[in-house]
Amino acid sequence: MTAITHHIPDAILAAYASGSLQHHYAVAVASHVSLCVQCRASLEAHQTMGGALLEVTERVAVSGNMKADLMAQLDAPVKSEPVYTRRGIYPGPVVAALKGQEPKWKSLGMGVRQSILSQDKQGSVRLLYIPGGQAVPDHGHNGLEMTLVLQGSFSDDTGRFGVGDIEIANEDLEHTPIADPGDPCICLAATDAPLRFNAFVPRLLQPLFRI
Ligand SMILES: [Zn+2]
Repeated sequence: MTAITHHIPDAILAAYASGSLQHHYAVAVASHVSLCVQCRASLEAHQTMGGALLEVTERVAVSGNMKADLMAQLDAPVKSEPVYTRRGIYPGPVVAALKGQEPKWKSLGMGVRQSILSQDKQGSVRLLYIPGGQAVPDHGHNGLEMTLVLQGSFSDDTGRFGVGDIEIANEDLEHTPIADPGDPCICLAATDAPLRFNAFVPRLLQPLFRI
């Protein structure tokens, strides 16, 4: 793997550490962090700070009923989630989102495929498969889009993204990611709203494929 050059902004790591990041983005952030030593170190710093803050708050605020509530929570059985480890190109958080299954690819045309991992009113997280040299249909965003490269690489107006790199694009960015020639590019993409495709045909396909 070449060195990771596109990282997660500190404000997003802080939101993730405090548990306030929307679920679909959290899958992308956790996946990048599992591949990136630099962001893992920053995240651990945020978690340490968050933990220290919580201790202070508890010392000041715990009294009466609240203390009873806390004790009740401590007595509640801890639900243990199965732990998934990296499998092939897929980091643990993606394997978890796949529930240990293989991706269920659906064609979007021009050799582009997607596999939706999770989707609800808040947004979605999916895998995208883009053949080498192929463009992802031109699209703008209604909100924030995070794209993490798992295999191959792509380039757009803002630069080149290789394995482990994450692109954070906001709604102002109209961009056309193109997979670099060679291996197909496989990405994890998290959005908080449906993408708006500009090209005529993809717009027609949009309701069919829930893009
Ligand atoms: Zn990083």
